[in-house]
Formats: sequence, structure tokens, C-alpha cells
Amino acid sequence: MIPIAKPYLIEEDALAAYHTILSGWITQGPRVQEFEEKFASFTGAKYAVAVSNCTTALHLSMIVAGIGPGDEVICPSMSYIATANSIKYVGANPVFAEVNEFYNLDIADVENRINSKTKAILLVHQIGMPGDIDAFKKLCVRYNLKLIEDAACAAGSEYKGQKIGSHSELVCFSFHPRKIISTGDGGMITTNREDYYNRLKLLRQHGMSINDRVRHNSDKVIFEDHIEVGYNYRMTDIQAAVGIKQLEKLDWIVDQRRMIAKVYHDGLKDISSIVLPGEEEGYQSNYQSYSIYLKEDFPISRNELMQKLLEKGIATRRGIMNTHRETAYKKLKRKVKLPRSEDLQERSILLPLYVPMSPQEIEFIIGTLKGLIESPAIPNSSV
Ligand SMILES: *Cc1c(COP(=O)(O)O)cnc(C)c1O
Repeated sequence: MIPIAKPYLIEEDALAAYHTILSGWITQGPRVQEFEEKFASFTGAKYAVAVSNCTTALHLSMIVAGIGPGDEVICPSMSYIATANSIKYVGANPVFAEVNEFYNLDIADVENRINSKTKAILLVHQIGMPGDIDAFKKLCVRYNLKLIEDAACAAGSEYKGQKIGSHSELVCFSFHPRKIISTGDGGMITTNREDYYNRLKLLRQHGMSINDRVRHNSDKVIFEDHIEVGYNYRMTDIQAAVGIKQLEKLDWIVDQRRMIAKVYHDGLKDISSIVLPGEEEGYQSNYQSYSIYLKEDFPISRNELMQKLLEKGIATRRGIMNTHRETAYKKLKRKVKLPRSEDLQERSILLPLYVPMSPQEIEFIIGTLKGLIESPAIPNSSV
């Protein structure tokens, strides 16, 4: 069975957790600080704040950006549901906009949805492909809006020659096993603003004025104050120790993923009934997922294709979800019309992509897909 994804975790990652456990300091402490410094330097951002996952990273970003009850934040519906949920957590309303052919926010449609209640744009770099950050920054300046990047899938991706994380004021990453590097669960916020950095550190640890490490290392008795109502959104040192080792491999993992994507591309580019993921000049995806779109003339339905591939031992996933179609969002007051997002969800599938993937595995997937297109009617048993 070829799975859809697999985290790349090796012995050195396990040993890092092992040594941290035996060090006696297991929750947020020296390893978290080291991971933050290394992650900031990897992305080129001034600061990084580690948190428990990307959903909490997004929640804290909404707070420091000043988003509150009644405000509107424009985001794609076509994203993992956590994107929109993070807006709801602060009492604001997500306003869903359409996506373009790269599965990223369509800027013209976003601009159409800006009104006096709009306070921010939440730009998702979908499945690792950067959105047009500079264009959105300009739009935000013009309308006095905040820009927050949901870079859950985009660790190691590049926009105009620079790593994602360095371009704007609040960029949120995920280290869930389905992403590029993993700490089990985990998240990171990068920022170039010192005031945001300080407030994020407070909020992730109960609003506590002095963290445990400072208190622990002090030769004087010191008492902490709790300056505002915060949260427990800490990353543990066990996770951070794994993260440090994973980060060392990130560039290599992205190179491997891009090579696999290229093999898919070369193997599938002659099939006229599918559309392959594109990459424009200045954009470099980490290929968190490899999504193909089935055109009208594709010989079988999307679900039939997924079933037939599964029967051959190849796992796939349906296209990225549309949040407005989930039960939790069906009762939205305003009618949501997003024909392109819905069509992309219905007519696309994600193919397996992980490191290491053998050339035989990739060729088997390409060959099976081609075989199904050439003779779609042949019953499975006779193949
Ligand atoms: C995975 C994902 C999230 C949530 O990340 P967690 O670390 O699981 O909280 C948010 N946004 C997008 C676009 C994602 O793909």
C-alpha cells in the first residue's frame, strides 16, 4: 500500500526527544528558545514564537493584530477549516473569497469583498504554494488592513527568492505530521515586530510576565505577575528538540519533494484530460501536496478514480475542502457563492508524495493512472 503522506522522522529525531526527556526539563524551556532562534534565522524573520500548533498560532495572531467581535476577515473557504475557525475564536466573521488556478486567494475577488467592517486578510499559502504576498501587502496598505499569512503548509517554500516567514508581520506555521516537518503537533509564528513578539510570548503562557526559565535561573526570589488573560498554548521542549533536528533537514526535504513533483510532472504532462499544478516565476512550492485536476473529458468520475487507485494499493485524497460546505459553517447568514472553489474541490485529487519515495513507487502511480485513462472500462479483476 502506498500511503498519501508520511512524516520524515529518523533516529536522530527520536534521540533528541530521548535526551530532552532525560535532561529533566521537558516543557517550554531552553530547547524551545533554541528552536525559535533557529527557525527565525532559517526564514529570515527577526523573531519566532513557538506554540502548540498552527491553529493556536493563528488565534494569537488575530489577537495581536487587534481583530475582535464584529470585524470581518477575508480568507479562502477552500482551506483547512482551522483557517476560518481562528477568525471565529476572536468573535470576528470570516468572509470567504474565491481562489485562483493555484488554489490561492483571488485578489480581485478579495478586493470586491472589502467593506467598512473588513479588518484583515488571512492569506493561505495553499498546499505549499506561496500566494502573491507583495500584491496583498499593497492592497492592505491601500485599505488600511492587517495581513496575516497562514503558512501552515509552507515551511521551506519561497516567494521572490526569500523563504516564507520573512515577508510580513504575522506568519503562522504548522508542524503537524501532514506538513513538511513535524514535531507531532506544533506551530510557530514569525514576525519582524518586537511589540508583536513580546505580546505573543505573553499570550502563549497565561499572560505571565516572567517565564519559568528566567525564574528558575534567577539568584534572587522573583514573583511573576499575570498581565492579561492569556492561554496555555506552549510547545514542549520535547517537541522543540525534535523540531530542531527536523529543521536541519528542511531544505533537503523540500529538494526531495520538488524532485518527486518533477517526476510526476514529466510523467503526466502529456495527458490532456488532467491539469497539473503550475509554478510561476518567483514562486517556489515545497509541494506539501501534489494536486491534479480532472477536466470534463476525464473518462471516469473523481470518486471512481480514487476507488480504482485504492484497489491498486494507491491512497489518494479528495481536493482541498471548502469550509462553507462543512456543517459547522452551513448556517452562515450570507449566501456563499464560490463556484471555482467548489469545482476545484470536486474535480481534484491529491496524489501520494512523501520522503523517501522510491522511483518504482512513483512510476507505478504514473503507470496505473495512465492505464486507467487508456482503458477505464476494464474491470479491475481482469487487469
Ligand atoms: C494544517 C493546517 C492548519 C492547522 O494546523 P495545525 O497545526 O494542525 O493546527 C491551518 N491552516 C492550514 C491551511 C492548514 O493546512
